[in-house]
Amino acid sequence: MKDLLTSDILTKTFDGLPTGVGIFHVPDLDDIESVRYVYMNNVILYEMRKNREEVFGKRIMEVAPEAYEHEGGLAVIETYRKVAAEGGNVDLGLVEYSNHMVAGIYECSVHFIKPHYVYVMLRNVTELEKAKNELEIKNQELSRFAYMASHDLKEPLRTISSLVQILEIKYKGKLDAESDKIIDYISQASIRLKDLIDALLDYSNIGKGKMKKEIDCNEIIEVIKEDLAVVIKETNTIINTTDLPVLLGLEAELRMLFQNLISNGIKFSKAETSPIINISASHENGWTFKVEDNGIGIDPKYKEKIFSIFERLHTKEEYEGAGIGLAHCKKVVELHNGRIWVESTPGIGSSFYFSISES
Ligand code: ADP
Repeated sequence: MKDLLTSDILTKTFDGLPTGVGIFHVPDLDDIESVRYVYMNNVILYEMRKNREEVFGKRIMEVAPEAYEHEGGLAVIETYRKVAAEGGNVDLGLVEYSNHMVAGIYECSVHFIKPHYVYVMLRNVTELEKAKNELEIKNQELSRFAYMASHDLKEPLRTISSLVQILEIKYKGKLDAESDKIIDYISQASIRLKDLIDALLDYSNIGKGKMKKEIDCNEIIEVIKEDLAVVIKETNTIINTTDLPVLLGLEAELRMLFQNLISNGIKFSKAETSPIINISASHENGWTFKVEDNGIGIDPKYKEKIFSIFERLHTKEEYEGAGIGLAHCKKVVELHNGRIWVESTPGIGSSFYFSISES
């Protein structure tokens, strides 16, 4: 075994891999101190800050006794023993390891080769995890900022709105036409500002403190069809669905996601054409959904931009809206560890895709 594994072909193949790969031998399946290194590729040797002569053929106990001194290290070595004895694969997820020279977070899995032998795969994700944590903190700050800003903006806006109402009651129709128009503009602008602030508040509240649960997407679509019954009837919209999955998710958020995509499919329809919306799902990357319409379509150069908050491709006179629907959708999808994207041919229609992870 040792000769074969340290032979040229295998060494060259595994040494060059970007992932850490190592093979362990467990001669005594009842003794975790018997675990030996058979082979470690360059990535693992680098992480250990050792060379092959110091490691190959030696026991972990001799080379890295500190691994036996803390719970995390013991759990990993116990997994080598268990898999070598019982077979199978164990995904250990994230494992923290440190000695006097290295400290890091590793993604680690252990796999059975044959009785007494396992191989391990290791990826150093320390930097990735650090970046993820920083991003998470930044996102929380941003969300707090959006909440505070929109919350604080509401107060002066309430004052403006009530003063405009007084002006309307007191003076509308009693002054010249231009003054009436100005009062109307202020009133409409303050209503619009209120809608935008509410949308921003909703946005910063998405997913807050909610628990995922089992959700039948077919039921969600039925509820949305009832909610949108009037507009569906007025526009002669046809909504077709295939059998959709039951999945783990945030109920209100997923409903909002589907509702935004369906409403957009209806809203951005071509003149003289009844909207047809086809909804389907396939079991890829968790679940990948497709919401397809036969509407005006989207110029490919705006494929990314439309998912940003307050981005719109039309004036509100052409199509009503605040430009926040797709930003909501993106946030909901990301809360489900998925992504959202669009494929579209202007003048023919758009297909919005999003994935929802199963965990
Ligand atoms: P809103 O609908 O309020 O404008 P959204 O964030 O939902 O905001 O959408 C952003 C922009 O993306 C829309 O203004 C529109 O230009 C474009 N868009 C979204 N969905 C569609 C669709 N199904 N067909 C064509 N254009 C769309």
